[in-house]
Amino acid sequence: MAKRDYYEVLEVERTASDGEIKKAFRRLARDLHPDVNAHDPEAEEKFKEAAEAYEVLSDRSRRDTYDAFGHKGLRFDGFEPSSAPGSIQDIFDAIFGGTDPFGGLRRAPSAGADVAAVVELELADVLEDQQREVSFEAVVVCEHCRGNGAEPGTPIETCPKCGGSGQLQQVSRSVFGQVVRAMPCDRCGGEGRVPETPCERCDGAGRLAETRAWEVDIPAGVEDGQRIRIAGAGHAGPAGSRQGDLYVEVAVADDERLTRQGTELIARAQVPVTTAIVGGEVFVHTLQGEVAIAVRPGTQHGDVGLLRGRGLPPLHGGRRGDQHVVFELVVPTDLDPEQQEAAERFADVLERQPSPRR
Ligand SMILES: [Zn+2]
Ligand SMILES: [Zn+2]
Repeated sequence: MAKRDYYEVLEVERTASDGEIKKAFRRLARDLHPDVNAHDPEAEEKFKEAAEAYEVLSDRSRRDTYDAFGHKGLRFDGFEPSSAPGSIQDIFDAIFGGTDPFGGLRRAPSAGADVAAVVELELADVLEDQQREVSFEAVVVCEHCRGNGAEPGTPIETCPKCGGSGQLQQVSRSVFGQVVRAMPCDRCGGEGRVPETPCERCDGAGRLAETRAWEVDIPAGVEDGQRIRIAGAGHAGPAGSRQGDLYVEVAVADDERLTRQGTELIARAQVPVTTAIVGGEVFVHTLQGEVAIAVRPGTQHGDVGLLRGRGLPPLHGGRRGDQHVVFELVVPTDLDPEQQEAAERFADVLERQPSPRR
């Protein structure tokens, strides 16, 4: 089959602006998308053709090549339409960045909605696996009517609006002929049946909001902002669909004395200048209390000492990271006369030797 002219496919002028091309493709996509248009066996092919035309004409350099040399020019340039091997969804992801190009048109949901909850941890909690209870509001199936929305003992009737099919059809005309679009019935929510006497507890919805608690396992090494997914713990969906998921976000509190970089921790320790000169040890804050760290003779301001294995564990198990200790030299003030005299003597002795720095 000869390839059709891309401008003809999108039904736009050769001088069409980028905006006009995008608009034209969205309109075609809405008419032709196979998911909403299962009646037309040619819809998918037509849709792929439109997607390919849009891929070329929405890209400035491809469009220039096509304008000058036609289909042959594009093949010569190595252009491969993304509609060739991939699915329709891939094309949408590639072209619209994963957003829904159909705007208001929605398919019946196949699952309940997801729920989000937050768990707060101290930094030290990251050392070990944790278990925390989260509570959240979730939509559950109404027990009174068992989810069918009818007061127990009362009949459920065929939906008068859609005649029981659960779908409303809209017929429109496009350049490719008559196109039938289906959308879920708003009266019965796509179920095809409605209660004669709505359930008094859930008002006929079949579902209710409830506060729910859940024990969440949080692995050691978790990072601030990570999310844990618990499948099926979210909202109940329409009858017959699966429940949504629960997403638990872990918020790890800052420890103002420790900076985290993955599995490594960084702390600061004050070192009296005399200890820095002759050597010794100082105490530094760690996740498991104060720990002594050696200070080598001749330590300079900003030198870094290491406490091996005092950092955090990696998320998927393994050896704990290290804690790095940045030494900050502190010069004593308010010396008493004896200390003052000793410091002066020390200075005299030190300055008698030629310093390499001078
Ligand atoms: Zn109910
Ligand atoms: Zn209906």
